[in-house]
Amino acid sequence: MKPITLHNKTFEVFIPETEIAAIVHSMAHNINNARIKDPLFISVLNGSFMFSSDIMKKITLPNTEISFVKLSSYSGTQTTGEVSKLIGLGQDIRNRNIIILEDIIDTGITLEKIISLLEKEEVADIKVATLLFKPEAYTKEIPIDFIGKSIPNDFVVGYGLDYDEIGRNLPHIFKLKN
Ligand code: 5GP
Ligand code: MG
Repeated sequence: MKPITLHNKTFEVFIPETEIAAIVHSMAHNINNARIKDPLFISVLNGSFMFSSDIMKKITLPNTEISFVKLSSYSGTQTTGEVSKLIGLGQDIRNRNIIILEDIIDTGITLEKIISLLEKEEVADIKVATLLFKPEAYTKEIPIDFIGKSIPNDFVVGYGLDYDEIGRNLPHIFKLKN
């Protein structure tokens, strides 16, 4: 497959869509086998939209629900420094079994923020499913329950992942060409 150009940078195919489909299928199989009761999947937008859509079609757990959130940072009025907030979580999630759907976990800073915000809502359990994981960049102790593929520290785009907001629509995952 041919390399592509986004914002004047060249990207080459790294994980073709057939391989992505196999990875997603296998993750769904593992999640189904975990027999999580009345699961509430929480898809972290924007990057996870395509992964979430594909994996949800393969989830067979009874009473499956999905909700979509976005992590926003804003400067508090009283205190200085960044405060994070989850936007989009409409319902009461107390005592729910949560499965976070992430496109990619790099340092783990985002994941840690999301988990601490969900814990404040007194959920029963939190599991994490990520399509891509960069073990060399990960700085946290939080266990990741379902990993699609571990990848080196390369910048990737496509299948929901962006480079400066473009490239999310690409069916394959590309990596920056050196
Ligand atoms: P973390 O907080 O784990 O360092 O980073 C998580 C976020 O950084 C992801 O949700 C994603 O938005 C972005 N990110 C990290 N690595 C990549 C990458 O290789 N490609 C793209 N497009 N985004 C990335
Ligand atoms: Mg993301």
